[in-house]
Amino acid sequence: MRLDGIHHVTAITADAQRNVDFYAGVLGLRLVKKTVNQDNPSVYHLFYADEKGDPGSDITFFEYPGAAPGRAGDGMIHRVVWRVGSAAALDFWSERLTERDVEARRVEGRDGLRFSDPEGLEHELVITASSDEPLAAEHPEVPAEFAFLGFDGVGAYASEPDRSRELLEGTLEFALLDQPQGGPLWESRGESRGALYEYHDAPAEPAVQGAGTVHHVAWASPADQHEAWRETVAAAGMRPTPVIDRFYFRSVYFREPSGVLFEIATLGGPGFAIDEPVDQLGQKLSLPPFIEHLRDQIEPNLRPIVNPRQVAA
Ligand code: ZN
Repeated sequence: MRLDGIHHVTAITADAQRNVDFYAGVLGLRLVKKTVNQDNPSVYHLFYADEKGDPGSDITFFEYPGAAPGRAGDGMIHRVVWRVGSAAALDFWSERLTERDVEARRVEGRDGLRFSDPEGLEHELVITASSDEPLAAEHPEVPAEFAFLGFDGVGAYASEPDRSRELLEGTLEFALLDQPQGGPLWESRGESRGALYEYHDAPAEPAVQGAGTVHHVAWASPADQHEAWRETVAAAGMRPTPVIDRFYFRSVYFREPSGVLFEIATLGGPGFAIDEPVDQLGQKLSLPPFIEHLRDQIEPNLRPIVNPRQVAA
């Protein structure tokens, strides 16, 4: 059994409109689902991805309006790494971000470009060496050859990364890679695709979950292996939640030994087109059937969001 790299990454924003302006408007991702946090339906849950809403390209945000800024620390993901196709793409993004007063800096020693979103969540673009299917969205200002192509991986802070080795290598079947710089680096690779997971030395200041921080990373499981993964993780001494039906996919959550919140989410549907046509993804507020009856209470309390993609259309 192998996990197919990253399914999605979920973070926290204090401002849904600023968030959509950045991820859809500047980075050119597609807002593929506008829904609410199923565990707290009074707040938005926004999903950005490629054109089809594919796992492997999906970054999502819970909006807690006015939430205090967080700070990534020990046991937390602090960087999201995306694939792009070429050095010319790095040049394009360097220029596009700088023009919008987003500080973008080259990463020494490798072909990378680092920047942060308006709330401080760090991203890095790297030139992909992978033959995995490119997962790109369309944006009128982003030439297709420069678009984001899906996740390359995530980086987390860990004060004692060895604590996680047995789980990552022995249970989750991540492969330890040689890493000339930085911390220990693993690859999760299944039949459809793969992604990297890296630890870095934790800063002295403790982690604070808040705006601009990552809440969890979800790894992708073929649907027919999902329950087996839950049992495998439990047998390894983790304390997984029951399988939770998230309507668009099914989920199991557990905290890995270094403290990072992991989810295992299903591939292969139903996916985001289950409740709206692919060409209209993310335009309306989607509510899963088990909370649809609350729409009259939920929708008036959400601040409307203007999607730059719909404005441009
Ligand atoms: Zn999740």
